[in-house]
Amino acid sequence: MHFDLPMDLYEKRKRENVFETEFFPEFEAGNINLVGVAIYIEDRYLKEASLRVALDQIARLYAETNVCRQLAICRSQREIQKAREQGKIALLITMEGAEPLGTDLDLLRIFYELGIRSIGLTHARSNAAGHGGIFASTGSSPQGLAEFGRNLVRECEALGVIIDLAHINPAGFNDILSIMTRPPIVSHTNVRRYYDIERNINDDQIKMIGERRGVIGVNSVLVSPKAEQSTLEHYVDHIEHIANLIGVDGVAIGFDFFEFIYRQWPESAKKELAEKFTTPHFIPDLRNHSHSRNLTRKLIERGFNDEDIEKILRKNWLRIFEQWL
Ligand SMILES: [Zn+2]
Repeated sequence: MHFDLPMDLYEKRKRENVFETEFFPEFEAGNINLVGVAIYIEDRYLKEASLRVALDQIARLYAETNVCRQLAICRSQREIQKAREQGKIALLITMEGAEPLGTDLDLLRIFYELGIRSIGLTHARSNAAGHGGIFASTGSSPQGLAEFGRNLVRECEALGVIIDLAHINPAGFNDILSIMTRPPIVSHTNVRRYYDIERNINDDQIKMIGERRGVIGVNSVLVSPKAEQSTLEHYVDHIEHIANLIGVDGVAIGFDFFEFIYRQWPESAKKELAEKFTTPHFIPDLRNHSHSRNLTRKLIERGFNDEDIEKILRKNWLRIFEQWL
């Protein structure tokens, strides 16, 4: 439920058929049937260009879907079902950080009409909706959501836009849950027990998601602060930890593979990421969607039964879509 495809398509907007040539082989090898593709605005486009870049990213998704017959942008449970029956890859358009909306709630309706079906209010930075959790064990803003953020949560619930708690700071996390009535998701995160930063979620937060029958997607890039502990084995430790706390119905996949973007960056951008956030440690045998079968194999080795594996890899997200879309 998290992949930074739109920003990459946007940077390659002069080229045609990027998905089919660069990503489709990996998706096919990994047998990926659905992916949440996140509209995200890089700092250099803030604030004036946020809205235009977001719209352009969505335009690229439609253009790519037009030339690659294997893709289907899905807006409802019925469309997801249809895409799966046709053996297509269902794209669910999501938004990571509400910056494109500015402070204009009416724009949510427009993005909804364009196909956005999930929103995380913030990335690591602050915006008109609220504040992100920082990449340190303390020090995020103690402030919860702004008035705009609270209204946004209510409007998302009314429209049927899944609210995603990935990245939000601890105070904002509590605020969102105090407003929400539907099952929440955390699309891509890790457990603080193994990587203690406020960008990740602690045991109490995991239990709060479980109590509301929500689902947590496990991220592949913040498995450990140490490179040598960033392994597939340890990725499964995160899954197991969540399953032990709230049951296997509450845990799913949110790979957030972004090595393909990281690789394209100049050294200066990598340095900036390390200073602002952290150095990502990519798991050697879980680096892109073609590696998904390695995870299935590891889950079998670790003793998860078929029914549990089906829930983790597919059914838990599908249950959320049934409830929201
Ligand atoms: Zn993210």
